Amino acid sequence: MNEQKDLMRGVVAIDGPAGSGKSTVAKMLAQRLGYIYIDSGAMYRAVAYRARQAGLDVEKDPDEIGRLSDELEFEFRQTAAGQHLFVNGEDVEAAIRSPEVGNLSSPVSAIPRVREHLVAAQRRMAADGGVVMEGRDIGTVVLPEADLKVFLTATAGERARRRWVQLQEQGIIEDYEQVLRDQIKRDQRDSSRAVAPLCKADDARELASDDLSPQEIATMLEGWLNQSLSEGDKS
Ligand code: C5P
Repeated sequence: MNEQKDLMRGVVAIDGPAGSGKSTVAKMLAQRLGYIYIDSGAMYRAVAYRARQAGLDVEKDPDEIGRLSDELEFEFRQTAAGQHLFVNGEDVEAAIRSPEVGNLSSPVSAIPRVREHLVAAQRRMAADGGVVMEGRDIGTVVLPEADLKVFLTATAGERARRRWVQLQEQGIIEDYEQVLRDQIKRDQRDSSRAVAPLCKADDARELASDDLSPQEIATMLEGWLNQSLSEGDKS
């Protein structure tokens, strides 16, 4: 175990569009470093899931959805099946991964009150350091002081292909063209919304993941983080 890493519990922010590979890389990096892994998208998905359960309409009831989100407490717990998100004590991991909830999470995440509540919760989770957090606005809004900020990209076709494979692995059979259409719509919405749109932080390192394995990317990130932590230590 690297003692330096142990002493300096850094903060890593990984942003990028759906399918850019950020979840796989973030999980792998967190595991290598012994850091906590936070999937911020899961939290937006959970609000969408609870809103749908409550019969709320994202166009008509944004205020209600904002109020509902204020009532939610989020906790990432280790289970025998890996890390799961619990909301007010309920394991919502399976429910939030459906394509319907994924599509709904994008307009739900554009509601300012939802973002305020979730951003505050995410900052609390990162307060002690030793965190790899991934999402759309982590480097720009949630953790602008992160020790390492990375913006991952990949071509639209490659991202849709990865997402399609991931859904298949979860037993969800979707048409590839449909996955691609949903993804393009979600990207457009996430990039053009008024509050915290998906964009690269000025000081983030941009990395195209098409031709790199998750292991290779995690190794690059680990090197950059160690460099950033040792530079910070000198100053
Ligand atoms: O990462 P994932 O695809 O699970 O995220 C679901 C949705 O949550 C995204 O399409 C985006 O609208 C929203 N999101 C966000 N800000 C984040 C993470 C996710 O707006 N930090």
